[in-house]
Amino acid sequence: MKYKPSNRNLITGGAGFLGSHLVDRLMEKGEEVICLDNYFTGRKKNIEQWIGNPRFELIRHDVTEPITLEIDRIWHLACPASPIHYQSNPIKTSKTSFLGTYNMLGLAKRANAKLLLASTSEVYGDPEVHPQPESYWGSVNPIGIRSCYDEGKRIAETLCFDYQRMHGIEICVMRIFNTYGPRMMIDDGRVVTNFIVQALKGKSLTIYGDGKQTRSFCYVDDLIDGMINVMNWEGIGPINIGNPEEFTILELAKLIRAKINPKLEFIFKPLPQDDPMQRRPLIQKAIKHLNWSPKINLEKGLDETILYFKNLDKNSS
Ligand code: NAD
Ligand code: UDP
Repeated sequence: MKYKPSNRNLITGGAGFLGSHLVDRLMEKGEEVICLDNYFTGRKKNIEQWIGNPRFELIRHDVTEPITLEIDRIWHLACPASPIHYQSNPIKTSKTSFLGTYNMLGLAKRANAKLLLASTSEVYGDPEVHPQPESYWGSVNPIGIRSCYDEGKRIAETLCFDYQRMHGIEICVMRIFNTYGPRMMIDDGRVVTNFIVQALKGKSLTIYGDGKQTRSFCYVDDLIDGMINVMNWEGIGPINIGNPEEFTILELAKLIRAKINPKLEFIFKPLPQDDPMQRRPLIQKAIKHLNWSPKINLEKGLDETILYFKNLDKNSS
């Protein structure tokens, strides 16, 4: 499918971290955007700059309930992404992943729209193959505290591929690896925000386990570029989008501490159950098919993110 500038876009989870950056990008391109959100982890503030614009509409709705709309493309992002939030009501998280994706695929079928699913590296679980290619089927605990999210995204992927095979629906599945940047909530709970917020408050940084587990961190601007390329692509995926630079959590903590306050201490806390020990995307598929690779390294992305949280602090005081 070719990118049509007059397309009507539905962004589920559009008031959240990634969703609101996508709203900005599509609005700046002059497109029509419907932002749909139930505000579980999103905020109106993230998209308030577009309220009143005739190309923008805001709908408070829960994707676990069906909805009828006239749209051409569905960017299906609705789902809490931070472990503390998705674990706070795990049954709701499973419902959001399954029923939400089912409802959005039903809408895609009725409206003849293309659907992009924001899936996740969590479908690889605690991976035994490292780095992770799209062909790896993963190592996921089906009954643990992360399962509502991991298995939820796996069944969401399954639904997409079955709608594509049974009904010829246009889909694309992108697997997003840890992404960070401005507009993450102060109480988001994910590691980059936790460390930055703790350091700015002069508190010790909380390291879970020994900090030797790894993650690969992608800056939000790179991720949104990748997401738009995935939607414009003819392929269906799955396709990894993330930054292949890998860091231990201890390295991340040291980097953030050095940038904010080198005197701060670390406190070590127990590693949560099923916390993956390593994670790094193979992005050859994205390089080959989308001509996409991340441009912003962790140093620069952290500087932008720290600046955002510093200003947030100033504005609220
Ligand atoms: P986020 O929590 O900031 O945004 C999720 C948005 O979805 C929020 O605005 C929330 O209110 C909304 N939402 C949740 N449940 C809903 C429901 N039932 N109905 C309607 N809206 C609902 O998270 P994010 O980091 O922006 O993640 C967006 C998407 O990308 C999620 O699907 C997530 O699984 C995926 N993803 C993100 C990352 C990352 O590192 N940020 C990594 C992998 C996958
Ligand atoms: N983590 C940590 N301290 C924190 C928050 C997270 O050490 O304050 C660790 C967490 O145990 C995990 C990694 O950082 O190993 C990434 O956690 P996050 O919740 O950001 O994302 P995910 O585990 O879903 O990749």
